Amino acid sequence: MKHDDEELSFPCTECPAGHLTRQYITYFTWLGDELITVPDFPAWICDVCGRREYDLQALNQLTLLLNPNAGKPANKARSISTRTSAKSTRPHPE
Ligand SMILES: [Zn+2]
Repeated sequence: MKHDDEELSFPCTECPAGHLTRQYITYFTWLGDELITVPDFPAWICDVCGRREYDLQALNQLTLLLNPNAGKPANKARSISTRTSAKSTRPHPE
């Protein structure tokens, strides 16, 4: 079969000709009032239309890292809670 390495790509859902390929970008997200940047974040980016989808696994891990309520079951499907407890929990203050 094929080599199952990082050279995976998926057909784009936005355009007929594009393929999503794995690239590493800087991911931006807000945690309260604080802008978090995550370098080298895996994402899938279309080579034609530029559609980007962040890698779900990495996104989940990041969410667990950033969300202080990570232990609780996620009842609210996909609703981003905008709690204003602005703790300065940075992953790596460098
Ligand atoms: Zn596309």
